[in-house]
Amino acid sequence: MRPISRINTDIDFELNGKQVSCLAVPNSTNESAYGTVTIPITAINNGQGPTLLLTGGVHGDEHEGPVALMKLARALEPEEINGRVIIIPCLNLPAVLAAARCSPIDGLNLNRIFPGERDGTITMTIAHYVAEVLAPMTDIQMDLHSGGKTLQYIPCAMMNEYEDKDLDSKCFAAIKAFGAPITLRDKILDSTGLLTGVFEEKGVVAMGAELGGAGMVSKDAVSIAEHGVMNILKHFNIIEGDIVTPDAQGRSPTKIARIQDTQCYVMSPDDGLYEPFVELGDRIEVGQPIGQVHYPQHVNKEPWTNIAPRSGFLLCKRPPGSVQRGDNVAIIAQHIEG
Ligand code: ZN
Repeated sequence: MRPISRINTDIDFELNGKQVSCLAVPNSTNESAYGTVTIPITAINNGQGPTLLLTGGVHGDEHEGPVALMKLARALEPEEINGRVIIIPCLNLPAVLAAARCSPIDGLNLNRIFPGERDGTITMTIAHYVAEVLAPMTDIQMDLHSGGKTLQYIPCAMMNEYEDKDLDSKCFAAIKAFGAPITLRDKILDSTGLLTGVFEEKGVVAMGAELGGAGMVSKDAVSIAEHGVMNILKHFNIIEGDIVTPDAQGRSPTKIARIQDTQCYVMSPDDGLYEPFVELGDRIEVGQPIGQVHYPQHVNKEPWTNIAPRSGFLLCKRPPGSVQRGDNVAIIAQHIEG
């Protein structure tokens, strides 16, 4: 019988202790006939408890999550935990090495093609491994993202609403415990093809985070990620200890927010140079001008004003000034009671 996946690993997920190895994904090229892409994975297993899967680097230009998860993978020891923690800091390794959102090998965006295909391209094969091998053994899942090179978020932990009320409140309590500046109840984007969608369907506690972006790694974003992930481990009693609240980290308490609808994803109305009128966290009223597009080849042409289609606050912006029509330049979110 052929194996579930074409990806090989010498990790035995049932074994107690700490195993540091890789997922070997076949990648036959001109330079390497039987070559593999080797994605680092750390599995730590001890005693009774849930299985937590932590992933980063699903998009290769989002560096904060991989940094925090590499540090955790080195530091966490089996005697500290109850349960199983599987850490893959750079799930789309070729994209991470290229500092690109999509894979340089097949051009695919890993977070749009789940559940993948066993015999598909390399990115398809990675998605399929997560969906078919890792997801069935996972009780709790968190996937760390950020805005990448073209977006910048106020750091937030997030979930999509579940129909199952128990699961919904369990997940909501966990993302609040993460303790990011914003706890985002619903990002609205269709979960089709997303990594978290696979876990949501299986009734797993599925969480995500957007930790910053602009292609940067900031001290604050890494600190929020590290504290957040440790808080998740504590929240589910995988490690012992008290949650380190935002207050104890010298920050304001988390604010609960949601993205009301797809209109909150504001696009550039034209090609040109985008001048924003609002900064991250600024209050926005519907109808308010939030930016304008200038025309480098027509200096006398009046800029095209971008009008806010919804009220709320600026959760995410586009750092690059050069825009094309349809580029996402702002995400407006709304504070809600938590
Ligand atoms: Zn991402």
